[in-house]
Amino acid sequence: MTYPEFHYRWELQLQSSPQDLWPYVADTNRFNRDTQVPAVQEIGPVQTNARRLLRFSNRLLSFAWEEDPFDWTYPYRFGVVRRYQTGPIAQMRALLEMTPQSDGGTQLVYQVWAQPRNFWGWIGIPLAIGRVSARRFQAAFKRYDEVAQSGAVPITLRHASHLTPGAKRRLEVIRQRLVQDGADPALVDRLVHLVQEADDLTLARIRPYHLADRWDAPRRDVLELALLATRAGLLDFQWEILCPLCRGASDRVHHTLTDVTSAAHCQTCNIDFHVNFDRSVELTFAPNPAVRAIKAPDFCVAGPQVTPHIAVQQLLPPHTQRQITPILEAGRYRLRTMTLPGGQHVRVTAVGQSQAYFHATNDGWPPQELELAPVPSLQLVNDTDEEQLLILERMVWSDQAATAAEVTTLQRFRDLFADEALRPGEQISVGSLTILFTDLVDSTQMYREIGDATAFGVVMNHFDVLREAIDAEGGALVKTIGDAVMAVFRRPVSALKAILRAQAVLAKPTPGQRPLRLRAALHYGPSIAVSLNEQLDYFGSTINMAARLEKFSLGGDVVLSDAICNDPEIAEFLTEQQAQLQVEPLSETLKGYDQECFSLWRVGKKIED
Ligand SMILES: [Zn+2]
Repeated sequence: MTYPEFHYRWELQLQSSPQDLWPYVADTNRFNRDTQVPAVQEIGPVQTNARRLLRFSNRLLSFAWEEDPFDWTYPYRFGVVRRYQTGPIAQMRALLEMTPQSDGGTQLVYQVWAQPRNFWGWIGIPLAIGRVSARRFQAAFKRYDEVAQSGAVPITLRHASHLTPGAKRRLEVIRQRLVQDGADPALVDRLVHLVQEADDLTLARIRPYHLADRWDAPRRDVLELALLATRAGLLDFQWEILCPLCRGASDRVHHTLTDVTSAAHCQTCNIDFHVNFDRSVELTFAPNPAVRAIKAPDFCVAGPQVTPHIAVQQLLPPHTQRQITPILEAGRYRLRTMTLPGGQHVRVTAVGQSQAYFHATNDGWPPQELELAPVPSLQLVNDTDEEQLLILERMVWSDQAATAAEVTTLQRFRDLFADEALRPGEQISVGSLTILFTDLVDSTQMYREIGDATAFGVVMNHFDVLREAIDAEGGALVKTIGDAVMAVFRRPVSALKAILRAQAVLAKPTPGQRPLRLRAALHYGPSIAVSLNEQLDYFGSTINMAARLEKFSLGGDVVLSDAICNDPEIAEFLTEQQAQLQVEPLSETLKGYDQECFSLWRVGKKIED
C-alpha cells in the first residue's frame, strides 16, 4: 500500500535580516550537525548535474539516497530533494524561505515533506521529524539569529570545547612564547580563546583574513600570528587547492607545498585544471592535535554555503522556466550550466535592467555582456531537451583567501618555514609579482680597502638592513648572490618604498661606519615558482628582465620598468613624494631583446643643497 506524504511547516520571526542569517542557515553542514543529523558519506562518484550518492547510518538505521543539487536564490530561499534507496522513507524534500520584514527582521519558514516507504516510516516520521527534529530546528534557527545579531566568532552552539589533556598548560606556554616572538598580546589572547572555545566546524578551517575582518585587526598581523602560532605548536597549516569553477577544496588538501602539483582534478565539476599560486592555492589553519583534536566529518556536502560565490542555482527540467528575484552585489557574474559550453556574462550595476530572460539553449550564449540591477527579476528558461542546472556565480574571487602567492612573498613565512618548497622540477604560476634586484656599488674596492673579513661583516650588515626594509613592506628576500639580493613583493609600491628606505639607511650609517650605495631595479610581471637549492625561488622573463635593468642603476637610485611606472599606486606615491624624489626618464636598449628600446625611469633622492 502507499502511505500518505507528511508535511511539516515551522514559522519563526527573527531579528536579523535575510542577508545576515544566510551564512548560518544556508550552511546546511552546520545546520545538520546542530540538529544532530548523523554524519554522511559519499558512496559513489558525483552524477550528472552534481547529483550525489550518499549514506548515513547510526545504531538503529541505515539510509542510502540520491540527492539532487540544492536549489537556491540568495538570500531568500533554498531547498533540496533526497530520494532514498533504502530505509523507511521513500523521498524527502526540504524548503527554507526567508521574507524580510519592515522592522529589519525576517520571517523564516522551514518546510519538510516526507513520503514513507513502509509502515515503519509511517510510524517513525511523525516522531522523528514532527517532534524531535522540530524542536532542534527551531532552537538552531534561534541561535543563528543570536549569532548573526552579535556577529560573534566563535560559534559555540552545543559542543563543549574538547581540549587535549594537558592542553591548558601547553596553551599558557605557547601564549608566552608568541608574545616573546613579538606578536600583539591582545591578538594572541583572541587566538588562544578561539582555539579553546570555538566549535569544531569553525576550527577545521581557520581563514586568517576572515578572522582579521571579524576582529577588525590588520590582515597581515593575523596571518603572521597564525604562521608564528604554527611554529609554536598551536596551529597546523594546510594548502587547499581550489577548483576554478566550484572553488571547493575538500579532497585536495596538502600539508606541505612539496605535495602541491601544477595539475589537479575536481570531482564535483569533472574538470582538470592548472594550479596557480595566486588563485587556486589557499593557506588555511586548524588547531594542532596536541592542543585540541578536531573532528569535523561531513553532515551535508553540497548546501549553498559550500559554494558561497554562487548566488543562484536552479535545477530546471527540459523545456521549463522559473522566475526568481535574487539580491546581487555590484560586479561581474556569469550564468552557466553544468553541461552546456560557455556562459552568459553579466554585470550588476545600479543602472542595470531590472528584468531579464536567460535561455539555456544548444546554440550557445549571446556574446554581449548583460547589465543587471542589484535586485533583478530573472526568468530562467531551459530550452533544451535535457535537464539543466543553471548557476549564476560571482566572478571575483574572495579576497578573504590568504593565497600561496601572498603567503610565499612574506618574509615571515620564508623565515619560519624555510623548508616549504615545491617538489624538484615542479613549476607553478604565481601570477604577477614585483621583483627587486640590488647590488652593492664598488664592493671590490671596498674589499681591497678594508680587508676581506671586515668587508664581509659590512656586506652581512647591509643584508640585514635590506631584509628589515623588505619585511616592513610585506615582501620577502628570496636569495643573495654575492653582494646582490633578489626580493619579491605583491605590490610595486611596497617594493619601491622598501628599497628607498634601505638606500636611505645605508647612505647615512652610524658614525664610524661606511656609507653604502646600492644599484637597484624593479620590474613587475608574471612569474613562475620553482624550487632551487630546496628553497622556494622564482624564474621567468620578468626575473631576467629585472636582473638586467639593475645594470642601468648608478647607485643610490632605483630603475623602474614601464610595468612598474604604469601601476597607479606608484604614480600616486611619486606625486606625493615629488618634493623629496626626482624621477628621470631613460631610454635603453637591452641585449637579447632584438635591440628593442625600453622606456625606463630612474628614481632617486633629490640632492639637498
Ligand atoms: Zn569544482
